[in-house]
Amino acid sequence: MVLPRRVWDYIRSLGSEGPVYAEIRGWRFDYVAPRYRYRPSVSEVASYCPSHRDAYLQHVRGLQPPRSLRAQYGVLVHEFFLEPFRLVDRGADSLEALTAGKYRLARRLGVRADRFLERVYELGAILALQSRVDGDIPLRVEPPIPGAPVGLSDTVRPDLLVGFIPVEVTAAGPWGTYGSKKELQLAGYALAIEAWTGIPVDYGVVVYVTRRSDEPRPEWRVVVIDDALRRSFLRERDEVAMIVENRVDPGPAGEGCPSWCPFRGVEGCPG
Ligand code: SF4
Repeated sequence: MVLPRRVWDYIRSLGSEGPVYAEIRGWRFDYVAPRYRYRPSVSEVASYCPSHRDAYLQHVRGLQPPRSLRAQYGVLVHEFFLEPFRLVDRGADSLEALTAGKYRLARRLGVRADRFLERVYELGAILALQSRVDGDIPLRVEPPIPGAPVGLSDTVRPDLLVGFIPVEVTAAGPWGTYGSKKELQLAGYALAIEAWTGIPVDYGVVVYVTRRSDEPRPEWRVVVIDDALRRSFLRERDEVAMIVENRVDPGPAGEGCPSWCPFRGVEGCPG
């Protein structure tokens, strides 16, 4: 079981209050069909930039954001957590195999894992092996799901799919600008899964892997994917698609730009 028992219990308790009523489902093409030819990725829609100027700078102006230290740190935590799941998915079934995989991953990423990353990997390894032993709920790792029917990129890939529950992993905290966007991302995955399978997806889960001293502190949050969240996602999807397709500069966001945005100081963005 990948999700901790208390997370399942919470999802069950929500279910016992009656099904989540959402009208905007992925199969309701009258709501979700693409409105523009440009189809953004889920992460573009759920970007940290309040005005979506990052999409304009990248796709209209052709600028690539410099990799910030913070972004690199986020990628490392994400990769060290998820890699054991990928290996178990490909047949690894022992701690030895996963340990060898950790060294290969560090070489591939060109880093020497510190104690914190080692512990993040161990956390992922324990959960991945546990899910293999339990085998009760199907688990897929970064499954490709068609995104075009709901106006998204050709394929979208949630980090994990536990049954039909999308799970996202992030090094951000739940209250930061980026961490809170993960809920929006889950709505995008839910719509794509619904369009693909015809099965309602009422919940998603975000795992916030934050750090205390050198120990990872995973925080599991269940997100109810209701109509309000779905509407927000579709509104942002259309905004990004309009900006790129019509080459519209939305201008700097004014307030709410994260201090670590790699575009700070670029082409009129706040420095
Ligand atoms: S500096 Fe602000 S407006 Fe510019 S891309 Fe970053 S978040 Fe967006």
